Amino acid sequence: MPLKLQIMKKHVNIPIFIPHLGCSNSCVFCNQRKITGVPCYDRNSVLSEIETALSTIDTDTTETELAFFGGSFTAIPEPEMIWLLSTAGKFKDSGKIQSIRLSTRPDAINERILDILSTYGVRTIELGLQSFSDKVLTASRRGHTAKTSVNACNLIKKYRFQLVGQMMIGLPDSSPQDEIYSSKEICRLGCDGARIYPTVVFPETELMSMQEKGLYTPLSTEEAVVRSADVFEIFVSSGVKVLRIGLCSNETLASDFFRSGYHPAIGELTINRYYLKKMSELLEKYHSPTGTVVFAVSKGKTSQAVGQKRSNVSLLAEKYGLKKIRVTESELVSGFGISLLHTDTERNRYASDLS
Ligand code: SF4
Repeated sequence: MPLKLQIMKKHVNIPIFIPHLGCSNSCVFCNQRKITGVPCYDRNSVLSEIETALSTIDTDTTETELAFFGGSFTAIPEPEMIWLLSTAGKFKDSGKIQSIRLSTRPDAINERILDILSTYGVRTIELGLQSFSDKVLTASRRGHTAKTSVNACNLIKKYRFQLVGQMMIGLPDSSPQDEIYSSKEICRLGCDGARIYPTVVFPETELMSMQEKGLYTPLSTEEAVVRSADVFEIFVSSGVKVLRIGLCSNETLASDFFRSGYHPAIGELTINRYYLKKMSELLEKYHSPTGTVVFAVSKGKTSQAVGQKRSNVSLLAEKYGLKKIRVTESELVSGFGISLLHTDTERNRYASDLS
């Protein structure tokens, strides 16, 4: 049997935050300076930030990516945008980084912009889509319509960039159905990845005033988890990789902004809930006469399936009157797939395989 060598790629991201730079909009939920923890953009510090980050990268790193996050990159005045791109481009030309990623708004995408991004070797564009419901976009003062987002996604795909769609959960006037529709649109439009952000109410935002006036009620953690898990499931079933669920718990968030809607483990809770739903569906479908079941998940996913403090297995054992629930890892299951193995005969057999 020939020896199969598996080469694991080690990817490192160097994030450069450019809060609010280029954005003339004022979305009700946004306080970019607070979200990123960077008070303002300083051109003079960009080079040293990159150099410092590069000096800390492990020697076994196979791919380093420079990521401009936090603003509306393609709405930055063109000379500044080109300066940033050419700075990144120099690091790329020298081989110190391998790719460039940026985030922007759908209404700051057009052919001229995409031509410029192509010239400087940008690989991935992340679009703050947030919702594909015009009602929700209006209530959130996004300043563009769903049609704008559809056009931007189509154009980006036409140029063959990698596309990541960012969406939010629990925006003003948003329903679970709106969010399911938005996630399906992200899949339909060919996004290669997605980010799910449950809404957080930050100080000094319109959303906070709305909450104080009783015009907006943040989701409870439980509601945010259930709704995020529903869209996570859609991305999983469509093969769209979810890069993140929830904001990073950087120091600013932890110290200053323990405001409504924020939970540091929202991503983990969402994935736990996804597994709970999948396991319930399998148990509804396949009865176990012996009262013992074994679920198979992919490598490394046991703790997410079992749930925090074994909450998933305890809940299911009680609900379905099972004696024992075991979760095992199997090479036959990939990604966020899960299978149910019965123990109703002397040998285990696959009852189902979801992937
Ligand atoms: S478009 Fe982005 S940066 Fe601008 S206000 Fe909205 S969320 Fe903030």
